[in-house]
Order: sequence, then C-alpha cells, then structure tokens
Amino acid sequence: MRNRIRPYAWGSRTAIADLLGEPSPAPHPQAELWVGAHPADPSALLDGPGGSVDEPGAPTRPLTEVIAADPVDTLGRPVHERFGSRLPFLLKVLAAAEPLSLQAHPSAAQAERGFALEEAAGIPLTSPQRNYRDSWHKPELICALTEFEALCGFREPSRTVHLLAALEVPALDHYLGLLSGQPDEHGTRALFSSIITIPPSTLGPLLSDVLAACVRRVQVADEFATEYRTALALGERYPGDPGVLASLLLNRITLQPGQALYLPGGNLHAYLAGVGIEVMANSDNVLRGGLTPKHVDVPELMKVLDFHPGDVPILHGDPGLPGERVYRTPTPEFRLSRLEPVPGRREITHAGPQVLLVVEGELQVADERGRILTVPRGRSVWIGAHDGLVWVAGDAVAYRATDGLD
Ligand SMILES: [Zn+2]
Repeated sequence: MRNRIRPYAWGSRTAIADLLGEPSPAPHPQAELWVGAHPADPSALLDGPGGSVDEPGAPTRPLTEVIAADPVDTLGRPVHERFGSRLPFLLKVLAAAEPLSLQAHPSAAQAERGFALEEAAGIPLTSPQRNYRDSWHKPELICALTEFEALCGFREPSRTVHLLAALEVPALDHYLGLLSGQPDEHGTRALFSSIITIPPSTLGPLLSDVLAACVRRVQVADEFATEYRTALALGERYPGDPGVLASLLLNRITLQPGQALYLPGGNLHAYLAGVGIEVMANSDNVLRGGLTPKHVDVPELMKVLDFHPGDVPILHGDPGLPGERVYRTPTPEFRLSRLEPVPGRREITHAGPQVLLVVEGELQVADERGRILTVPRGRSVWIGAHDGLVWVAGDAVAYRATDGLD
C-alpha cells in the first residue's frame, strides 16, 4: 500500500519520517499516516507485477476504487452485508508533538441524525462549521508505540473534588459545590457544563488564579502534580480557553508501549503527546469543546457526551493467534491486534478484509496462490477477503486491523 500523510500542525516532524525511513526531521509536521480507504485520503495499492515494487512512477490504484469494483469479493460477504460497499475501519499512525483538541465522537444514532440535520440545513460538507461529515459513528482505539499521554473520560468525582479543593482558590468554591453536592454523573454534567460555558470576563481571572495555584501545587510534589502540570501546559498554549479548566476533570493517562485505550462514542478525550497506532470506524465526525483553533460547538458536544465518571480501563491485549495480542472492544467495525515474532509461519486467514502495518523488523506475507511479499518497517499490506489462505512469518512486529464481526 502507499499511504498518505496528514500534515496537521500538532504533528511530529520525526516519528512518521523515522518509521518510513525517510529524511528526518521532515520539513513539515506529519500528524497522521492514513492506512485504509477513507474517501478523503485513500491508500493506493501498488499495481505492478507481484504488487510489491514501490518505485516512483509505479502504477497504483486507490483502495476505494479496488473495493468499489468488487465489493462483495473484496470485503467478504459478512462485512458487505453489515456495512455495505465500504471498508468499515481506518488505521492510522498518530504522531502528536503537541496536544490535540478536547473532543468526543457521536454514537451511531447521533451521527445519523446530526448528518441529516446539517444536510437539510445546507451546510457544505467542506465547511469548517460542519460537525458531521458523514452519517457514521466513530469509536476509536489508540495503542501506544511510545509512551503516550492522554486525557480520557471524567475522573471519579471524589478525587476531582480533592484535586480542585487542594488548589484553595475561593472563586472555585461555587463550581466545586456542584460536584461535592452530587458526586455522580449528574454533578459531573453540571460542573462540566458550567465550566465550559463560563463567560470570558469571569473565566480570565478564575483561570489565572487556578493556574497560579497549579504552580504552587506542582512545587510541593502533590499526588495530582501531573494533572496540574498538564493544565499549566494547556494554559500556556491556549490562554483563556475553558478547556484548560475542563482538563482538570479528566483522567490523566500515560500508556506504555503496547498498552491501549478504547474510546467509545461520547467519551471526552484529548491526546497530549506520543506516537500510537489508532484504529477507528471509518468516519470523520468530531465534536470539539476547546483547546483548538478549529471549529468548537459546545451545545452539540454536550448532546453526545457520556458523563459517567470513573477509571478508564487500560487494555493490555488478550492472547489470540500464537504471538498475537488482541485489543478487544465491542465495536463491530474494527479489531486491532499486535503480532510479535514467533518461530515458523502462522496462518492469519480471515473472512473479511485485513490491513497489516509493520512497525519493527521485516514481515513475510504469503497467500495460497504462492505470492510472497516482504514487508519492511513502516510499510503496509492490504489483504482482501478473496485472497484466501494467508500466512505470515519473520522477525517483525506488526499491527493487524480487521473488521470486528467475529
Ligand atoms: Zn478522538
């Protein structure tokens, strides 16, 4: 496959270039490598003899066209019946040098309704004001390649009360009372909605008091030092943004390489820094609450948010095939696993489509027609449902994305 890079400003200039073996640092930020068939940036399949010769000028075909030409055979009957003529998942390498926006994604029903309403209102699909660019939900899973820092889901209320009270900022008392009087999802909703809608004239002085208190707490090596430090970093980058205050309500997570987070629809999150493999339903629907120069729509965000507070489970991967760790989620659109080296070859035949992305070493991929591909680090392979029996071998670490139907 030949994959495209999205140059968002928050991207790293080294991580994706290093993975691909290209000159590093790259001249521009490289935020995401898209591996899949999203219409906005589909991967292309090399069309040469054996399909493996990736030279400049080698003939390619967009994966979207390959699927459209023969959707049932390419995707397999079960995937085609459930999701239609489109690849249900999108795989990405995400390389964040700077924080991404505070965001959540809609549920399937919310996405359908939101898309229909914006279509009816005549908001162009390319408009920056557009929330719903398609009618699908977008649950996602991020698996760390390096240490990966994130804010994810609302913290258990009694701990958030503790974190805010320790700041000893009198102007916070009113907000604190919303949660201490009702330490559950209702209190969490009340607190978040008042914070995210504070008028700028109130927010300015409150934020500067809170950030000054964060500086003091960081100096005494508080149990929430990391949380306070995160608010300070966000406050520097996005002065006057209510998302800075809201960040103090969220679980502050550090993933170690190989650990993953599942983010169902409605989960409020912000990726802060690190490199990861991300898989998601093949959608582009994002509702933002702040920490971004992009379009923010708080009322719409409030409609989709899940306010149930608590710890977020970190996924370590369950055993699958030999040497395979599977990150299980309830999402039918995708399944992500990590293949570690094992002696000999192993069969990875699957009834639906598969994408393999090599992150270390070299992977051999063979099919029942006797075709053999050698896939180096940073490269990926498309395996259609009609490719039949497939085996892999070699000393590689690779990520494997498929549908989640089985
Ligand atoms: Zn997201």
